[in-house]
Amino acid sequence: MLDVREPEYTIPGQDMHELGLIEEIFTIVQGELDRQGIRQQVECLTLTVGKLSGASPEALQNAFELVSPGTQLEGARLEIEEPGPLCRCPACGFEEEVSQFILSCPACDSGSILLEGGADLRVRSLDVEDDDEGEE
Ligand SMILES: [Zn+2]
Repeated sequence: MLDVREPEYTIPGQDMHELGLIEEIFTIVQGELDRQGIRQQVECLTLTVGKLSGASPEALQNAFELVSPGTQLEGARLEIEEPGPLCRCPACGFEEEVSQFILSCPACDSGSILLEGGADLRVRSLDVEDDDEGEE
């Protein structure tokens, strides 16, 4: 397993169409594969697509299948993590991941909450085929 969490690749332009996003992701992944001299096919690509990112996982999946043939990502599994924002409430101390954009605390209804994250759209990890089989 090749982990590309360090450094993290944040993809700008969250209002772009999913096809454009996937093309950008492919450029990043291909660049990373080239940089590390990896020639094997990618088995699994994991993306972080925050619930507030505005991108649709289904549309990303469709775009992936459209763009991947003929690349090192052809036939790869696309996995999408969808983290929600972390809601912090200074009034009652509530601190939990929520699944959507909210305006008030789910616990005490206070309107002065902080939402953090949940809008990320980036490559989380990618797995490539092993050179020698059965080494796990
Ligand atoms: Zn609260």
